[in-house]
Amino acid sequence: MLIVQKFGGSSVADAAKLRRVAGIIAEAKKAGNDVIVVLSAQGDTTDDLIAKAHEISPEPNRRELDMLMVTGEQISISLCAMALQEMGIPAISLLGWQVRLRTNSEYGSARIRSLDTERIQQELDQGKVVLVAGFQGVNRRGDMTTLGRGGSDTTAVAIAAKMHADLCQIYTDVEGVYTADPRIIPNAKKLDEITYAEMLELASMGAQVLHNRSVELAKRYGVELEVLSSYVRKPGTKVKEVVKTMEETKISGIAKDDKIARLALVGLKDEPGIAFRIFRVLAKEKINVDLILQSIGRDNTKDISFTLAREDLNRAKAALEKAQDAIGYENLTVNDQVSKLSVVGAGMINKSGIAVMLFEALAAAQVNIHMISTSEIKISVLIDSSKAEAAMRAVHRKFFEE
Ligand code: ADP
Ligand code: ASP
Ligand code: MG
Repeated sequence: MLIVQKFGGSSVADAAKLRRVAGIIAEAKKAGNDVIVVLSAQGDTTDDLIAKAHEISPEPNRRELDMLMVTGEQISISLCAMALQEMGIPAISLLGWQVRLRTNSEYGSARIRSLDTERIQQELDQGKVVLVAGFQGVNRRGDMTTLGRGGSDTTAVAIAAKMHADLCQIYTDVEGVYTADPRIIPNAKKLDEITYAEMLELASMGAQVLHNRSVELAKRYGVELEVLSSYVRKPGTKVKEVVKTMEETKISGIAKDDKIARLALVGLKDEPGIAFRIFRVLAKEKINVDLILQSIGRDNTKDISFTLAREDLNRAKAALEKAQDAIGYENLTVNDQVSKLSVVGAGMINKSGIAVMLFEALAAAQVNIHMISTSEIKISVLIDSSKAEAAMRAVHRKFFEE
C-alpha cells in the first residue's frame, strides 16, 4: 500500500516527540508499505517566526514573510529524516520546490496548481521514506509561498490525491474529530466518521482540526482521510463521502471562530449599486467577507454590515475609508470582539427544529445574537466573544448531552 501520513506541529514539537513520530512511520514502513510523510513546523515555530517578523515590521512584506515561514517545516523534516535513519530506516527530506509543488502567487494563502510526483516516486522506488515539508510551495518565478495557516493538511491531501495513495492519515494531538473542540468542551464525543460536506463546514467555521482546503481537495479527488492521535494508537475519525448514520444524526458538530470581526457602514443611500460599490472595494483588496446583513431601508437610508477575518480588518477599514465619497456612507464602525458559533449537520436539511433548539440554548444562556446565517447543513450566529465559550457549552449540552 501507499500511505501518506501527516503529523502536526505539536506531534513533532521536540526530539522525544519526533522519535515517537518516527516510530509510527517506521511501523508503517516495516509493514511493507511505501510511506510519504508530510510534517508541520515544530510546536509554535510558525507563530514565533511571525512574531519575529513583526518585531521588524508592523505589516511585513508578504513575500518575505513566506520566505521566513517556510523555514519551520524544513527543520522538522530534516530532523525526522535523521530520526528514521537512526532507526535504520532509509529516509530523505524534500522541500516544496524539490517536489515541484507549484502554487499561485498569493503569498500567505497560495493555492496549489500542480505537483510533480517524479522525484517522490524515485525516492520511494529506492526504498526510502519520503518526508515532504508541509504548508509550502513555489510560484511561477520559483519563489517560496505558503498555503495559509494549517496548510500542511492540504499538502498531505494534495500528495495523496496525485500519488493515488491508498490511505491518508492526519495525525494530531486529539483522537479524531469531535462534536466540538475537546479542549473547550470536555464532554465532546469523538465521531467515528463524518462526511466531507460536514467536515468542510466545520473546518471552514473554525474547527481547526483540519485545514478546510484539505477537505475540499479530499472531496474533489475522493481521498478518504483519517484523523487520529499521534499519542494514542487507536482508530480515529474517517472523513468520507457517505457515512452510515447520515440520515439519523441531525447535528454532527459545533464550531467556533474567534478570528473574525464585524464592520458596519451606516447611513448608506437606499438605491441600486450600493452593495456592488462596497464589495468591489474589498474584492480589489482580495478581502473575503462572510456574513452580510443589510438593514431594512428607512428615510431613504440603509446600513450594511458584514464579517471578515480579523487580520483583514485594518486593510478593509482603510480601503473603505478611502472610498467613503465614492460609496457614500455616513459612518463606519468596527467590532473586533465578536465570534461566530455554528452548528453543522447533514441531517438538518428542512429541520426548522434545529434552529429553535439553537436559539433556545442561546436564550437560556443569555447570549445576544447579532447576525444569523444558514445554509443547507449549517446555522451560524454572530455573538460577543466574551460569551462565546459559555454559548458553545450551552449549545453542546442542548444537542449532545440532553
Ligand atoms: P496540528 O498541529 O496537528 O495540525 P491543530 O492544532 O491544527 O493540530 O488541530 C488540532 C486541534 O484542533 C485540537 O487540538 C483541538 O483543540 C482543535 N479542534 C477544534 N475543533 C475540533 C473538533 N471538532 N474536533 C477535534 N479537534 C478540534
Ligand atoms: N506550520 C504551519 C502553521 O502553523 C502549517 C501547519 O501547521 O499546518 O500554520
Ligand atoms: Mg493543523
